Amino acid sequence: MGKRRVDKAIKVATKAHEGQLRKSGDPYIVHPLAVMKILQDWHMDEDTIIAGVLHDTVEDTSLTLEDIKNEFGEGVAHLVDGVTKLSKARSGMRDIDTYLPQTRDNLLRLLIATGADIRVLIIKLADRLHNLRTLSALPPDKQKKIAKETLEVFAPLADRLNMGRLRVEMSDVAFSYVDPKRYNELKDLLEERNRSAEKTLKKIQEEISELLTREKIKFELSGRIKSIYSLHKKLAKYDQNIDAIYDLTALRIIVDDITTCYLVLGLIHSLYTPMSGRIKDYIAMPKQNGYQSLHTTVITKDKKIIEFQIRTKEMHEYAEHGLAASFYYNEQKITENYRTGKIQHLPMNLLWITELQQAAAQLRAGKKVNLDKLKLNLFADKIFVYTPKGDIVDLPQGSLPLDFAYRLHSEIGGHVTGVKINGKMSNLNTKLKHGDVVEILTSKTQTAKSSWFDKIITPHARNKLRQQLGRASEVIPKMTPPKNKK
Ligand code: MN
Repeated sequence: MGKRRVDKAIKVATKAHEGQLRKSGDPYIVHPLAVMKILQDWHMDEDTIIAGVLHDTVEDTSLTLEDIKNEFGEGVAHLVDGVTKLSKARSGMRDIDTYLPQTRDNLLRLLIATGADIRVLIIKLADRLHNLRTLSALPPDKQKKIAKETLEVFAPLADRLNMGRLRVEMSDVAFSYVDPKRYNELKDLLEERNRSAEKTLKKIQEEISELLTREKIKFELSGRIKSIYSLHKKLAKYDQNIDAIYDLTALRIIVDDITTCYLVLGLIHSLYTPMSGRIKDYIAMPKQNGYQSLHTTVITKDKKIIEFQIRTKEMHEYAEHGLAASFYYNEQKITENYRTGKIQHLPMNLLWITELQQAAAQLRAGKKVNLDKLKLNLFADKIFVYTPKGDIVDLPQGSLPLDFAYRLHSEIGGHVTGVKINGKMSNLNTKLKHGDVVEILTSKTQTAKSSWFDKIITPHARNKLRQQLGRASEVIPKMTPPKNKK
């Protein structure tokens, strides 16, 4: 049954895309089929796989949503519709620098528009992964644009869904286009380090294998390769000092159950000296995205520093495939629940997805939603505030009313006389909070003041204000001595 539905989808998509070519010169159908393959590798459910095959048909061919509904049912149509909406919402983009911050704003709206089904985002991620893998066929300016967007939007999204393998591939490929020189430098550096650590690593692997075998523990031991992009980011944090990075070489030990994880941790510490403050119990306290593992950094007898990651098979599968893995474990019985937003089985740490879906449903029904209560982990460093008309604006935490005003429009920012927050007159020094409704009061006669620099935290607002003050000073008669800043 299942195979026949997928085969039928392939036939329909092949016919629909007939005559269309990719930039590489390949027939277009190569792309949807590759997306299908990726979704199969992630063990996604059948509706998602079929929607992957059909994901570009409604936008790019004469096939309609109605056709898909008739042929493949409501579930598939719903997913294809979500993917189509997602790309429509992004298609207004002109230049990347104005588009990117907007996308980050829009991501919540996109999630709300499509997020009643997180599988839409998973299809989008598979779509992006294949486009990245074939990026070399595009002209350089497009390559940069797509790569940059991937680093800013899609790789973080993969991380939030704990799709570790996807995050690493996406960010490394994208980074190689955004900054090829740096990418190659770091790649060489990492290779060189790994080569010189090879001998030590082999010795440690032997010691550990011997120890665990003696204790009759079943285990898998492998080296973990650090992603180039995460090395790049870490180096920036540590003043480019590669010796301050302790997880350059890491070994991963996969065992059968949680008790054994702790046992192995103890055994490693009996063999090597643990570095203080570097034992992390992500089993008892998982990361926000649900990642679980024990981490410890130790110093070996030859004074080498090495990190160990210890986890069960399930944890490992989950760290590699994240949300997609939970589909695998729960098979298709929960598909319907995903569609209707009744997700019960997600790990505690991914409950934000459920919350988001519930919020989305309420927003669509015209109800007010308390964003304060929503754990918007996807945007942990952001707050979302509303205009009186209900438009959502995202700002960095700690933003002030003038940041909001300049974000709406520099002309609004330049004429602010006051602000109402949640209907109450408030001070321009008031920090905005999640879910605030912010109304900016303006007057044509009011102009920008240099004292506003103290009431602004975002670079965007600061730049606009600087421009406006610069413009104002041009009309000041030359005779007037320059004023001191207040
Ligand atoms: Mn596509």
